[in-house]
Amino acid sequence: MRTIRELETNLKQYAPPYYEALPFVPVIAKGEWIYARVKNENGKESFRSLLDFHGNFSAIGLGHNHREIVELKIKRLQKNKPALISVGEAIIGEFIEFAEKLTALSGMDMVVAKNAGTEVFDSAFKAARLWGYKVKGVPRSEAEIIVARDNFHGRSFIATAASTSAIRREGFGPFIPSLIEVPFGDAKALEQKLHRNTVAVILEPIQAEAGVIVPPSGYLRQVRKLCNEKHVLFILDEIQTGMGRTGKLFCWQHEGEEARPDCLMLGKLLGGGSNIISALLLKKEIGELLKLGMEGSTFGGNDEACAVASKTLDILCRRGFLERVNLLGEEFMEGLRAISSPLIKEVRGRGLLVAIELVPEAGGAKRIQAALLQRGDIVSLARGEHVIGFSPPLTIRKRNLLRFGLNRIEKALKEIEGSTAKWE
Ligand code: PLP
Repeated sequence: MRTIRELETNLKQYAPPYYEALPFVPVIAKGEWIYARVKNENGKESFRSLLDFHGNFSAIGLGHNHREIVELKIKRLQKNKPALISVGEAIIGEFIEFAEKLTALSGMDMVVAKNAGTEVFDSAFKAARLWGYKVKGVPRSEAEIIVARDNFHGRSFIATAASTSAIRREGFGPFIPSLIEVPFGDAKALEQKLHRNTVAVILEPIQAEAGVIVPPSGYLRQVRKLCNEKHVLFILDEIQTGMGRTGKLFCWQHEGEEARPDCLMLGKLLGGGSNIISALLLKKEIGELLKLGMEGSTFGGNDEACAVASKTLDILCRRGFLERVNLLGEEFMEGLRAISSPLIKEVRGRGLLVAIELVPEAGGAKRIQAALLQRGDIVSLARGEHVIGFSPPLTIRKRNLLRFGLNRIEKALKEIEGSTAKWE
């Protein structure tokens, strides 16, 4: 068996260095736990049980290998159900059932099924321009789309063009023109940028990757109102915040009906932590503009992914499920705030999308992330330079979050205080 050190060398050899993998090799994953080989800061290896508060960038909503999802998949395999036949090839009953549930729950009318989150960002962009030309009457090639500063919509070329991060854009230009940037959370600044050629405003309800930035209360309602007044589409990227992550099925619902978007992007949790599926939800008047050949995907809307997404929706919508996420999130944040550590600047979040902003003296999120793994057996997310994120599964047991989780975070932070170790 290769050592982790050897595997790290292999990883550097075969994968471009775009991710900085933590030094563990997952062996078994169940619920909120990953049983893994871990390399400690001295290079020694051991088997350890890690609490997964990273959740593959917030995607493992139902925990690893959720019993009902596993049963569903085993049954399907035993019956030789099609796995990868998609809506591009045939009429897929599972897609219909999934789309029926999702449109009813979201108040949308149509579903464009894809795979990665960033694909539906591209699809939303295309749909918005099409609507702008065909419905709003914007002159051809003049459609403008507004995005927020510090957004994250993935790694496709359009998402890269929409990014305001120099690191993400460096070396990839020239980019498409007509993307307008506004500060996140500032409705007045947005109002000034709305123009007769603006076709859409695309936002995340909470900027997760930017460091779990929660906008002022009422912001989404204000944006919705401005979009109505200026005849502009209001599009929400809920790839990270949707599907119960923040304690409502969709994050915009925290602000009520007056914040309802025209298009909604979903991904990550949609696949139950087990399949790959994303979706762009559209109002009928937008969806109907997409004609043959304009959209499609080899695997998007495949039988198995839709069956899993449909089951995921059933589980999330069970009585008390989302209320529990809300409550756990509040108690978890309260617990984090009660940790008295000079490393913590602020605790923020919504539901189980939580972050600690660290003081600069803490040595950066990467250092704390490594220490949480080595001292606390916790896998966390480094979100930007000074923010450490926690996205536990929504199904996490209360004691694992509020007792083990909080204790381990506190213990790890205490050990880091005053230490100069690098913890790699
Ligand atoms: N949009 C948001 C808000 C995200 O957080 C992400 C991923 O983190 C994406 C889009 C991209 O999703 P994917 O990595 O599945 O393409």
